[in-house]
Amino acid sequence: MMGPAHSLSGAAAWLGVGAAAAAAGHAMPWPVLVAGALICAGAALAPDLDHKAATISRAFGPISRGLCEVIDKISYSVYKATKKPGDPRRTGGHRTLTHTWVWAVLIGAGASALAMVGGRWAVLGILFVHMVLAVEGLLWRAARVSSDVLVWLLGAASAWILADVLHQPGNGSDWLFSAPGQEYLWLGLPIVLGALVHDIGDALTVSGCPILWPIPVGRKRWYPIGPPKGMRFRAGSWVELKVLMPVFMLLGGMGGLAALGVI
Ligand SMILES: [Zn+2]
Repeated sequence: MMGPAHSLSGAAAWLGVGAAAAAAGHAMPWPVLVAGALICAGAALAPDLDHKAATISRAFGPISRGLCEVIDKISYSVYKATKKPGDPRRTGGHRTLTHTWVWAVLIGAGASALAMVGGRWAVLGILFVHMVLAVEGLLWRAARVSSDVLVWLLGAASAWILADVLHQPGNGSDWLFSAPGQEYLWLGLPIVLGALVHDIGDALTVSGCPILWPIPVGRKRWYPIGPPKGMRFRAGSWVELKVLMPVFMLLGGMGGLAALGVI
């Protein structure tokens, strides 16, 4: 899928988690719902850091472009080192390592650890990166016609405001994990979820997605998971724009209302 569909599905998924959490008796304070939905919308772009033309690889100028090249090389080496006889030959690392559940868990756990030990600046950093991505993903072309610097400023301002709001007592820095020292531990959850939702979105497209790696399926370790061929669509096709995106909006809206106890 393309950036906007990935981001929308990420936001909708977190709002759905909010509804489930409310039903399970761990209702999210509204700042957790809002910050989590935006983080998840941003994190749902992150797996494409292995692809030069992807939104995320252009989002932070030379820094993300450089990182993209490194990630592509690492992904390709891991692919070559772990492929089984049934896995095809490849020439690059796109849709390999960063499109697996292992990667999703690793970056989520990394973000949680950083947020717990790194204090306010770590939380601000995580929020900033994901707010910039959320703006790029959700506003898409509108963000593209403005300058990168404007998008960064918008990301920085919203990160600053959200960090302050979350920090107020009762606003959710200790949501779900309430022991002392575990504030912001939950920040990794929307990041894991965003990456997984991205992988599922890619799995629906023609090429599938090797989410299960390194668990082998038959003669393949990078088995491209997906529905039967006839049910797949091409990235950016009308199905994505006219069917999936409105569905994500509707589900996200319903999830949000349920999470806040309105319905
Ligand atoms: Zn992807």
